[in-house]
Amino acid sequence: MLGWVLGFWLLGGLAVQALTFRTVVLDPGHGGKDGGAAWYGQVEKRLCLDVALRVETLLKRRGLQVVMTRRTDRFVELADRARLANRSSSAVFVSLHFNASRNTSIRGLEVFYLSSRGKTLGSRILSSLRARLQTTRGRGLVSGNLKVLRDTRMPAVVVEAGYLSNRTEAARITTASHRQAIAEAIAAGILAARG
Ligand SMILES: [Zn+2]
Repeated sequence: MLGWVLGFWLLGGLAVQALTFRTVVLDPGHGGKDGGAAWYGQVEKRLCLDVALRVETLLKRRGLQVVMTRRTDRFVELADRARLANRSSSAVFVSLHFNASRNTSIRGLEVFYLSSRGKTLGSRILSSLRARLQTTRGRGLVSGNLKVLRDTRMPAVVVEAGYLSNRTEAARITTASHRQAIAEAIAAGILAARG
């Protein structure tokens, strides 16, 4: 009886928490004429693409299929990013950005979601980032009515992996080793969301 109850409880827990997917759509923010945030000589679009390509390598190594909304420095409309993502069945959508604020003391991590399954994905990715980067700074998991989250029909998140406007954080993001750490954390978070 106890075994049955425990098994039921575990299955129930997994049914609520784990996501089922074969494909990860990676969406490096901005590109081409849209540079995104630009601070201290760094341009967001380049950093997003760099991290996304690192995540792609890590996920493929683990046997997941990856679709990139861009893999070069080109401009892609938000609607086209969502349309491309919606062509994949059994997928999750992870958009990659870096943050900026006129208040240059603000730093840390933010992960936006809209749906409850997006929240599951986002919480896994945020936990993984916080552990790997050893920080609890930032607003963390935030519900955000963003176009790519509205328009994608799958668990979807927008990851803001640090503030380029904060001098300390920008200096870290400039290093390849830090961007690799971000990528490893995001890949591990995505894999953890599969349960
Ligand atoms: Zn951005």
